[in-house]
Amino acid sequence: MTSPTIPAAGLTTTAPAKVNATLVVGPTRAPDGRHDLVSVMQSLSLADTVTLRPRRDGDPPPPADDPHGDAVDCAGVDGDNLALRALRAFRDATGWDGPPMTVVIHKRIPVAAGMAGGSADAGATLRLAHAVRPADDATLARIAIGLGADVPHQLRPGLVLAEGAGERLTRLPGALPGAIVVLRAPFGLSTADVYRRTDALGATRDAHGLEAWRSRITGALGDGLPRELRVNDLQRAAIDLRPEIAEALDALRSVGGTTPMVSGSGPTTFAWFADDAAASHAAARLRDGGHDADVARPSSGVAPPTVVPTPPPR
Ligand code: ATP
Repeated sequence: MTSPTIPAAGLTTTAPAKVNATLVVGPTRAPDGRHDLVSVMQSLSLADTVTLRPRRDGDPPPPADDPHGDAVDCAGVDGDNLALRALRAFRDATGWDGPPMTVVIHKRIPVAAGMAGGSADAGATLRLAHAVRPADDATLARIAIGLGADVPHQLRPGLVLAEGAGERLTRLPGALPGAIVVLRAPFGLSTADVYRRTDALGATRDAHGLEAWRSRITGALGDGLPRELRVNDLQRAAIDLRPEIAEALDALRSVGGTTPMVSGSGPTTFAWFADDAAASHAAARLRDGGHDADVARPSSGVAPPTVVPTPPPR
């Protein structure tokens, strides 16, 4: 189906980073070998910008194997781009045969950092494609889980309880209170490596343990998730792989952050503060100490895609 509604200038949206306010990892499940988990995922004000627009002269070329002639322009990320895979999966699932497109991504989310940057861009691309050629919720959900465990949340960012391998989402109202300080690491970590090390360390829960955590978390969510329920079962493995992470957690603790934690599979770390002012003060102290620290606010969602302004003629 060709849509007549795609503006030449394209559509744009934000693709927010996320942190796992808690991440409890259970056993692998038989059908696909993914880990069952229970997590509270919180989107942040820290975000990439993603634009979907018809291809123009001067755009990067499409990958040789792209059947639709779509391409991606994403400084800072080489090789296969998850956003482009999302667009291809969308076309394949819906039969959309609109003109060759370029996905333009302005990255602000650190790459390979455990903040779901690639998943955020993929989710944003699906929202943009859906705005051009509407698809039903079940189709979008199927495409998203096929792209990765964090993509379903990124279809509709905000505060969610994630179960299954991340695909069973319960949307929660609003956002967690407070502000966070994010500490970037000068190295990346592969999510697959961290899960493998977590398994090797025996740091996952059995099915009963996971269920016990699920009940405690769901029972407490109305109260904004108390401290004792904020854990990350991938943290031990992340520190085992990169011991510098333990120093980053100490640094966050030393400036008054509560529940300092690895974000997702790391290596980014973060901690909570009462409000923006406290987080800004702590981030400034950390920067003085040579850390790459930033403040981010929990966000309850993203605005619908908008038409980007037409750029001046070149
Ligand atoms: P995950 O979502 O698996 O937890 P992450 O959040 O730790 O991953 P990402 O920033 O998504 O990390 O990057 C993981 C890998 O994905 C990187 O090696 C990167 O090259 C690749 N990648 C593909 N597309 C993108 C994208 N649009 N943005 C960032 N990384 C991407």
